[in-house]
Amino acid sequence: MFARDRFRTQEQELAGLQLARLQTTVACLYVRSPYYRQKLDRQGVRPEHIRTLEDIRLLPFTDKEELRENYPFGLMAAPEEEIVRIHASSGTTGKKTVTGYTRRDIDDWANMMARCLAMAGVTPADRVQITPGFGLWTAGVGFQLGVERLGAMAIPVGPVPVEQQLEAMVDFGATVVIGTSSYGLLLGEEIQRRGLRDQLRLRVGIFGSERWSDKMRGRIEELLGVETFDIIGMTELYGPGIGLDCRYHQGIHYWAEHFIFEIIDSVTGEPCAPGETGELAATTLTREGMPLLRYRTRDITRLRPGPCSCGQNYPRIDRILGRTDDMIKFRGVNIYPGQIDHVLSGFDGVGSEYLIYLDRVGGKDSMEVRVEAVPDSGRDRGQMAGELIEQVKNRIGVTVQVQILDYGQLPRSAKKSKRVVDTREAGL
Ligand code: ZN
Repeated sequence: MFARDRFRTQEQELAGLQLARLQTTVACLYVRSPYYRQKLDRQGVRPEHIRTLEDIRLLPFTDKEELRENYPFGLMAAPEEEIVRIHASSGTTGKKTVTGYTRRDIDDWANMMARCLAMAGVTPADRVQITPGFGLWTAGVGFQLGVERLGAMAIPVGPVPVEQQLEAMVDFGATVVIGTSSYGLLLGEEIQRRGLRDQLRLRVGIFGSERWSDKMRGRIEELLGVETFDIIGMTELYGPGIGLDCRYHQGIHYWAEHFIFEIIDSVTGEPCAPGETGELAATTLTREGMPLLRYRTRDITRLRPGPCSCGQNYPRIDRILGRTDDMIKFRGVNIYPGQIDHVLSGFDGVGSEYLIYLDRVGGKDSMEVRVEAVPDSGRDRGQMAGELIEQVKNRIGVTVQVQILDYGQLPRSAKKSKRVVDTREAGL
């Protein structure tokens, strides 16, 4: 069979499996979750109405607000004696959201994470340094589960001062490092500053939990001497590990036997056309502790139809382009920070880091983009600023100011980088 035909057959088999699992999920929720039962009744949908995969559109969405309203255990759909663990999100933008796992959920999560690691080329011979936090937070524990399931050696260092992080990396001979991309950059720059590169054995970096540009990716790879992989996930959906970009780096494969991914218009909730950019909504297909129907992730991406060069039949989405909450309204134009880093990624002489300052002066909005000059690029800063202003104007349609700083002047973060400072409403 030709590769494309084989892909179609596998797609059809997958669709059959997804439909059967969707039907089971809806039927179980109808019986076990008073909250979802009420929600489905309000919508006039009963489990037997789900006859095809397209019928998923009959189902109501679930949003983060509902998770908060049901704090802490209102959305659990398994009896409490079957819940073996809970995790919770950090709650930086409101009340914490709690998620519960049965033994099988933990097992599935471990397998999904192990699959991510294997796709990144990690083997049992690797030593994997885990830098995210442990505890209620899903990241540290989730990675550890996967590393152990794969049979590699976990080095669960967690978030410690950079000195200790690097000491562990050298002493234990870590070959894989896991963290946020911001932290990857911070570590890379520290390694360069201290001249430690020759003492490292790193070869793979797995980074996630925030949007990071191709330029930042290139910089991290160069500084750490690794190939990087972009991992996705969120507390509400197990945690990290629900998808990863393969070695071809043409989008992110996701585990479609566990999830249905839809791309919807974030305003109307209507499905987007294949390949069109919108908000990702995810339905869990195998989860027992806290199944979610059409969960609105607020992540902006698109489906990438067709087979991947790697030959794996897991479908793909694009790398996350931004979050619906990150959208900047500026002089009547909707802008995502990701559009700015797209411009920077293709521009010679500036680094990957940037900060967008929004202000209102004399009743008029202004936007300043602060970027760093690459050391010794030999380019004139005034000229670079002028070219950047023109490129932003041409590609995004707005006029901004550009300030070019020395390399390393923008803040570096061990967690997620803040990219936008908006003083227009707060009157700061
Ligand atoms: Zn692939």
